[in-house]
Amino acid sequence: PVTTTPLHIAVVGGGIGGLAAALAVARSGHRVTLVERAARFGEIGAGLQLAPNASLALDELGVLPAVRRTAVAPPRLVMMDALTGDQVTALDLRSSAYARRFKHPYLVTHRTDLHAALLAACQAHPAVTLRTGHTVTHAEQDDSGAHLHFAEPHTRLTADAVVAADGLRSRLRRALVGDGEPACSRYVAFRGAIPAERMTGRMSRHAAAQSVMVWAGPRMHLVQYPVRRGELYNQVAVFESDRYTPDSDDWGTAAELEERFAGASQAVRDALPLVSRDRRWPLYDRAPIDDWVHGRIVLLGDAAHPMLQYLAQGACQALEDAVALGRALARCSDPADAFPAYADERRERAARIQTNARRFGEICHLEGMGATLRNMLLSSRDPEEFDDVAWVWTPAAALAPAL
Ligand code: FAD
Repeated sequence: PVTTTPLHIAVVGGGIGGLAAALAVARSGHRVTLVERAARFGEIGAGLQLAPNASLALDELGVLPAVRRTAVAPPRLVMMDALTGDQVTALDLRSSAYARRFKHPYLVTHRTDLHAALLAACQAHPAVTLRTGHTVTHAEQDDSGAHLHFAEPHTRLTADAVVAADGLRSRLRRALVGDGEPACSRYVAFRGAIPAERMTGRMSRHAAAQSVMVWAGPRMHLVQYPVRRGELYNQVAVFESDRYTPDSDDWGTAAELEERFAGASQAVRDALPLVSRDRRWPLYDRAPIDDWVHGRIVLLGDAAHPMLQYLAQGACQALEDAVALGRALARCSDPADAFPAYADERRERAARIQTNARRFGEICHLEGMGATLRNMLLSSRDPEEFDDVAWVWTPAAALAPAL
């Protein structure tokens, strides 16, 4: 923790990134006020994969034991061909090769459980103040500090510095960076977690094995894994719509979902009726940017580096951001030095993952000869061979040689 005068830092956004940042900054010795626009803190009813880089970050934030109480440590990551139903490749997460290389577990969790663990840790920290029902409209800064303005009347907040963790459609980023709207991939996701006992028949075999199953098919895929001690089963169906139009929401519909998955293997078609249709998530990202720091305001999480979900790293990267920010503010309590140091540590790695997430999506969604070649190449991979993924699952700081 800092030895100089503690700062007062405002965090905008109470998602996984914002809560983790608030916790990291408070643990580095500073005072934090977190503002969230929703009336109550919360996350959506779906799952999240946490690769070992994320569980390392959660460990550094002191919340890994709480997260592990409900998270599942799947034995394997399995890629199946969605059309033939055959296994393409798998990674053995219980092997000694995994343990030697990564030290921290690969976990799958319900978003609400991770969010609740971070929220509880923030609530228990005396240096964190949490405010819901606060919608930031804009920010100003001068020599005396950063000033947040809100949609709610008679509210204002002045702090020494601001962390913008307000997500994909960050208002603060829009005002500071000016790189337009997020890019729509024309893909859409339907997802949700259901009681595990609803996975019956053929589906129950995969559910009982507790592995992360990725069924890769032409311009579509299905991801399945257990969450919350195995009591719930999470399913995410993703596909590319042929009816995308920028000005309407009438594309990527549940009817198109049925059409796109009609040619899938029986196992996938059996699972499809149990994929939640409650809401659809069009999938967006942005190209990487360099300017994360704007005077007293710094970007974090999806506000800094929104990415497609194909490497399952968006929240993992937000957790890495939080730890790096906390470390920078512990070393130096002037945001003019700490914020650039944080961005320097994080920018290149987050950009590489953002860019490769797009690429991995393309590999996952190959059709015809492309898919055949992918399957041939991947099927020869040893389940204990982690070279392809090690750079994603290992934060830059952990790769640095020990001093
Ligand atoms: P958000 O979760 O968007 O939080 C932003 C918060 O800011 C919200 O609470 C919002 O209400 C608040 N806010 C916004 N504007 C304002 C304002 N003006 N004033 C005040 N508050 C405001 N990542 C993984 O690591 N693993 C996975 O397996 C994974 N799977 C995914 C699957 C899908 C289908 C999708 C779409 C994403 C997936 N991700 C995954 C990515 C992950 O969900 C995000 O990267 C992560 O949740 C981003 O967290 P965040 O806190 O930065 O942003």
